[in-house]
Amino acid sequence: MSRHSPRARAGEDRANLYDEITNKIIGELEAGRAPWVQPWGAVKPSLAIPKSAATGRQYSGINVLILWGAATERAFTGQSWLTFRQALSLGGHVRKGERGTTVVYADRFVPVDERQRASETGDEAQAIPFLKRFTVIMSFEEVSAALAQGYSTVLIPCGAVEQHGPHLPLCMDADHADALAAKVARHLGTALIAPTIKVGCSAHHLVFPGTISLRPETFESICLDYCTSLAQHGFRRILLFSGHIGNFPVLRDMLLRLRRAVSPDVEIDAFCDAIAWIDKWRSAVRDAGGDPSAVGGHADIAETSLMMWLRPDSVRLDRFEVGYLGALSEQQLQLMWKNGIKSITHNGIIGDPHGSTAEIGARCLEAIADLLATSFGR
Ligand SMILES: [Zn+2]
Repeated sequence: MSRHSPRARAGEDRANLYDEITNKIIGELEAGRAPWVQPWGAVKPSLAIPKSAATGRQYSGINVLILWGAATERAFTGQSWLTFRQALSLGGHVRKGERGTTVVYADRFVPVDERQRASETGDEAQAIPFLKRFTVIMSFEEVSAALAQGYSTVLIPCGAVEQHGPHLPLCMDADHADALAAKVARHLGTALIAPTIKVGCSAHHLVFPGTISLRPETFESICLDYCTSLAQHGFRRILLFSGHIGNFPVLRDMLLRLRRAVSPDVEIDAFCDAIAWIDKWRSAVRDAGGDPSAVGGHADIAETSLMMWLRPDSVRLDRFEVGYLGALSEQQLQLMWKNGIKSITHNGIIGDPHGSTAEIGARCLEAIADLLATSFGR
């Protein structure tokens, strides 16, 4: 379970990451503490560089200051940190207590245009540095404390492990769901995030190797067990959404049965509006200077741009191909569900990845997060 807590002081809710970190450092300085010469007081946390308990990799730069500060503030004596995902993958469970600590992830990306310009002129491509944030592991005590503080909403992100053309990884939809969850939770304010259900219903992609598909009844059983577990702990709003549009009809179909499985004071909702989703992508692509007609909904300009924003290294820029273009008729859709996606597109792409940029990806992510938050009633 991870949590995106609202900022401590009113008015800072929308503060961007840069402001937040800057304010934190200024706050420390105003309080007479230079974070980098911290007199650790009675707590005496290890002055070792904070490191990931899962990988042993050391945090660097500003993250060292953030995690030292958090360790001092909360009287932690160790300097090993885990993301929620890492803890799960190590078979970890959650401990009762407080919230995760936001650290930032700094990376660089080279926009496609810049890559092209550089290859044409022989110049070195200019990389753009950026920061992302994620939340370090919550314990069960932290979940319990969050519930007591009114964090009674929980998001269940759903994904898929399926082909996304020759240029995108199989984990596209699961990664997208992870990223959306963080943004939607922030919009909603008092929401926790359950672990993403990474595999979904992708039967129509199975002809492509690497695709893993759950039967609808398997997917429903997993969703049901998530809901009943979380309802038992006191969550009163359980919100499901999917980075994979192919899960939408299955979610819609199971919704009544999920609701019947929990007590009537627990609200369960699922976002299933594929048309609104695609519309948002088209306008986001247009707003960011891309061609909205390249949006087809699968491994297209929207999804490719999203991955260029979220995991730039995972995009095979030299493997872009045009997919099926144009609107899908009802007949074609039926054919796709029955005979698989190859009946309409030989390379697995619906839409066109050409023209994708990280900027379009960032815009698409915001647009869908906003759509979900609005639909769930932020
Ligand atoms: Zn997808």
